[in-house]
Amino acid sequence: MPDFCAAYGCSHERNNSLSLAPFLTFLRFPKDNSLKRQWELAVKREGFVAAERSLLCSEHFKPDDFDRTGQIVRLRHGVKPSVFNFPSHLQKVCAPFG
Ligand SMILES: [Zn+2]
Repeated sequence: MPDFCAAYGCSHERNNSLSLAPFLTFLRFPKDNSLKRQWELAVKREGFVAAERSLLCSEHFKPDDFDRTGQIVRLRHGVKPSVFNFPSHLQKVCAPFG
């Protein structure tokens, strides 16, 4: 059973994805409840609740969100996913144009 990225409009899966996307990392939702909730909201899928196995791929994080100083690249503490390819109706801008 492959693990899919939970992000809206993203079809990356962890299964055998090495050859397809060698730079992709998959991140589990945080254990911390309030941070996990922020991740869930960031995904913008209605009613989405992260399961134990829920993952996001590294495409939804900015390069600065990662700590690359150690041997293992890890996400900085308290970071939220912020890079998504939402459909236009989810990208509504509140300020009127013109
Ligand atoms: Zn993804």
